[in-house]
Amino acid sequence: MDWQGGPVSNNVEDRRGGDEGGGGGMISSFGGGGGLGIGAIIILTLIGWATGINPQLLIGGAQVLTGAGNSSYSQPQQTTRSSNGAPTDQMGRFIASVLGETEGVWTKILPEQANIQYTKPTLVLFSGQTRSGCGTAQSAMGPFYCPSDQKVYLDMAFFNEMKAKYGGGGDFAYAYVVAHEVGHHVENLLGILPKIQQMQDQASSKAQSNALSVKVELLADCFAGVWAANANQQYKILQQGDVETAIATAQAIGDDKLQTAARGYAVPDSFTHGSAAQRTQWLTVGLQSGQIQACLPLLK
Ligand SMILES: [Zn+2]
Repeated sequence: MDWQGGPVSNNVEDRRGGDEGGGGGMISSFGGGGGLGIGAIIILTLIGWATGINPQLLIGGAQVLTGAGNSSYSQPQQTTRSSNGAPTDQMGRFIASVLGETEGVWTKILPEQANIQYTKPTLVLFSGQTRSGCGTAQSAMGPFYCPSDQKVYLDMAFFNEMKAKYGGGGDFAYAYVVAHEVGHHVENLLGILPKIQQMQDQASSKAQSNALSVKVELLADCFAGVWAANANQQYKILQQGDVETAIATAQAIGDDKLQTAARGYAVPDSFTHGSAAQRTQWLTVGLQSGQIQACLPLLK
């Protein structure tokens, strides 16, 4: 991926290395990341229960959190944001560039394709844990988008985990993770996220609620594909092998793969992100069409 040619976002809030407010290491000591280990899943369920966040929304490779947060931590936090808000290290600059390219694309195509203006989300880089509008963010949760404060939370340690666990990794795979989270923000702007949350509140079973989560996740995958197609048009980001890398990543982080890896079998009703085949399919739909509209049949 050639990420150096596009705009660089100044909406990265760099909280790495700061005092993130108590309890550090409690979760990461379980070695979980992206909700993979059963220990991490149990702990996340407890956190979800304690913070009032639906635990299903805390568990997964790259997820969305819902609901106004009541963070259990009240200490003030320090941030290490530089004067213009831009990180100066290589990975930080990479993230700011990818975010800048999501801003460039969605600012252009959201009015064109959906007739609404794009408002840019903030991306919070943190290490260990930090506060979010959806409760305390922990690295073990994996990256997520919080609709309450319209921020994406990312601990880049997740990328190491992706690389170690799935043998994947690489610029475009990481960009896909960021684009997926921004995809949730687009869902929020389109009014899809609040509507699905409402439907989940009214769902009569866990399976029904999970099926709605899968739609939200596959839509974010599709929007990540829409972004990539348009970013390539605007900034020529794609290089040989990038699409294959993204597809391999989408396959690796399917719920069936994650569950099979974690406990030896998969339970389709408990899927909250979609199977490997589904994630690949919808990322591809977005990539090939470059159109929001092409993703919307998912919601039917
Ligand atoms: Zn997601």
